[in-house]
Amino acid sequence: MGKVCIGVDLGGTFIKFGLLDESRKASEIFQLPTPQDKGIDGVIDQMIAGARQAMSKAGCTNGDVVGVGVGSPGPLSMSKGIVYNSPNIPGMTNVPLKARISAALDLPCSLENAANAAGLGEFLCGAGRQCRHMVLLTLGTGVGGGVIVDGKVLHGAHEIGAELGHTLIVPDGRKCGCGQRGCIEQYCSATFMSTHAAKALESGDRPSSLRQVLQADGTLTSKDINEHRKAGDAFALEVWDEMCRYLAMGCVTYSRILDPDRIVLAGGMAAAGDDLLAPVVKHYNQMHWKMTEPRTEIALATLGNAAGVIGAAGVAWQEFGS
Ligand SMILES: [Zn+2]
Repeated sequence: MGKVCIGVDLGGTFIKFGLLDESRKASEIFQLPTPQDKGIDGVIDQMIAGARQAMSKAGCTNGDVVGVGVGSPGPLSMSKGIVYNSPNIPGMTNVPLKARISAALDLPCSLENAANAAGLGEFLCGAGRQCRHMVLLTLGTGVGGGVIVDGKVLHGAHEIGAELGHTLIVPDGRKCGCGQRGCIEQYCSATFMSTHAAKALESGDRPSSLRQVLQADGTLTSKDINEHRKAGDAFALEVWDEMCRYLAMGCVTYSRILDPDRIVLAGGMAAAGDDLLAPVVKHYNQMHWKMTEPRTEIALATLGNAAGVIGAAGVAWQEFGS
């Protein structure tokens, strides 16, 4: 068989595994639960076991593997191979993840921030194919960002670059968990948009069909808001359009700084498809400067939740491939 890299994408609920060959073909993608109750050693053991399982599924040995790429939530240091902290994984404090996995598997290992890895995954195998410069925005619980410049992940001087979710778009706006106010995450993540809409309904007397959903479920989702918007609810329309406008504002800013070929939208919110894309593109074109035509394309991600594991393997290819 040809050479492969193994990708391992660590999440709070699942760890994903897969292989990527030299022609960017991904295979053997599967997931195992993150054993939250077994502490950090149990989590690392599961990562090692899954990597071995991926190899045995493909019938390959260490000689066929160029490297193992690990994507992890951070903050972390890619160069040092250490995860400083990861709120959703118990015991993940100053863990030398790269060294431990490399030693256990006897293979070279790379470490990358999970959001950056997802960006590289879309760049190599998904919506960013044929791009040289690409931005990924993952609109889920929060807003994750990945920036690819000339085919490489942008890290910055202190390895905390591309935290696009914490781009400021509203002066003195909503307080964010990061300590800033007015971060795009507070306006454009599926979770925060819905939470703030629910709060607005609870504290005001705006008529809206979403009120019944809120009373029945105790919470709102981005899907509820989109569905009620489509059914003609004025409040839902306002909430959805505000989110799209802020997202477009972010995209114009990223275009001005980076001039990417493509900005790719991913995560739970992107499941709305054209209901998200069309209004974002409309606002983007309206807000965009008039000195040149808008040339950065805004597109939907194509890899779903496999982007992270594919990108993690892609990082290993870039680091250890010839
Ligand atoms: Zn923030």
